[in-house]
Amino acid sequence: MSPDKNLILVLNCGSSSLKFAVQDVAQREPLLSGLAERLGGTQPTVTFKDAQGKRTQPLTAADHGAALDAVLAELTARGWIDGLAAVGHRVVHGGERFTGSVLITPAVIAGIEACNMLAPLHNPPALLGIRIALARLPGIPHAAVLDTAFHQTMLPEAYLYALPMAQYRDWGVRRYGFHGTSHRFVSREAVGLLGLDPADHGLVTAHLGNGASATAVQDGHCVDTSMGMTPLEGLVMGTRPGDVDAGAILYMMRAEGIGVAEMDTMLNKQSGLLGLSELSNDCRELEAAAEKGHVGAKLALNVFAHRLARCIGGLAMGLRRLDVVVFTGGIGENSARLRAMTLARLRAFGMVLDGPANERMIRGTGGVITAAGTTPRAAVIATNEEWMIACDTAELARLADGDTVEAP
Ligand code: ADP
Repeated sequence: MSPDKNLILVLNCGSSSLKFAVQDVAQREPLLSGLAERLGGTQPTVTFKDAQGKRTQPLTAADHGAALDAVLAELTARGWIDGLAAVGHRVVHGGERFTGSVLITPAVIAGIEACNMLAPLHNPPALLGIRIALARLPGIPHAAVLDTAFHQTMLPEAYLYALPMAQYRDWGVRRYGFHGTSHRFVSREAVGLLGLDPADHGLVTAHLGNGASATAVQDGHCVDTSMGMTPLEGLVMGTRPGDVDAGAILYMMRAEGIGVAEMDTMLNKQSGLLGLSELSNDCRELEAAAEKGHVGAKLALNVFAHRLARCIGGLAMGLRRLDVVVFTGGIGENSARLRAMTLARLRAFGMVLDGPANERMIRGTGGVITAAGTTPRAAVIATNEEWMIACDTAELARLADGDTVEAP
């Protein structure tokens, strides 16, 4: 990677959206970021955000190509286009094929395509984004950073379901885990910020956003995680229930007379905080409603905290020792209330909340939230998946160049 080319374009394509960030890996904050929305719909727009503020403009067409063209036009207008060193693509599912980030080649594209069946909603738009970006930016390296890769260090005892082995062999039915880029980022940050031994530490990282998962990290490696073959397993989420007795699902299908499509909608869109509260999937709204005495909101937050604490306790079982519980994601970084409720349920581990410190850790401020001198500790660390993707991409681009300088 030549020194005058220092910008990485990070792309995250969904079925109707394209999220992007322009990163200089020497800086953690993006120089420019934004979102193209309503792709495939009416009145598609793209919003650009930088240190100066936000600007939204209409797109000339409602597709991912028009969205990327608008982003590249903006880079050209800013005089940055020749500074682009590489493109990093976020890809949700890498199955068992990808154990780390990789430079995109025809074989890698075929490998991601082979995982489409495991993530039918997420992988096809990512592949579309890769193809469009390769066509427009053919002269620079492109890398794929996969959400599942960090979890590939799990042992069979952690990743297998106790189903007939043929389901695993024939269809790849096993636990893969997601949010790997975030868990990897905050676990590394925790080691540095909290002065842990890189070769001897045990963490549980809890990424709590609209989707939520927790991961046990031993000495930098994932040993277990709460999400499974799909992002439905594990913790209570905005609109997903997390763990549910598979028998209850069969029962509801019979009792309600509903098919796979309706059950899919119930599990992905109508459950979780929304289903429990009958009010909202948004934690902030639920906290405000709970303050005013809304029974459903209180119930939803209680179930969320109970299940999170139970999951953290279970994941700690896979560690030699639990040193730190790390909270991240929109809820983990901002909800002092849910953090306090969760740690109160982990008293058997000896965790002691520092109330004022917990209240201070919001909107990007991170740090330890347990009382000085007590263990295990708990900490808030803001995630930064875009920067992690940019770092991986820059490192792969440098290696491809024959230059082995490490990305920061
Ligand atoms: P996504 O998974 O879509 O990236 P985020 O990580 O942004 O989502 O998390 C969104 C969640 O974070 C929402 O439930 C939102 O209510 C919650 N959240 C954001 N800010 C706060 C806050 N100040 N207090 C409580 N919850 C918050």
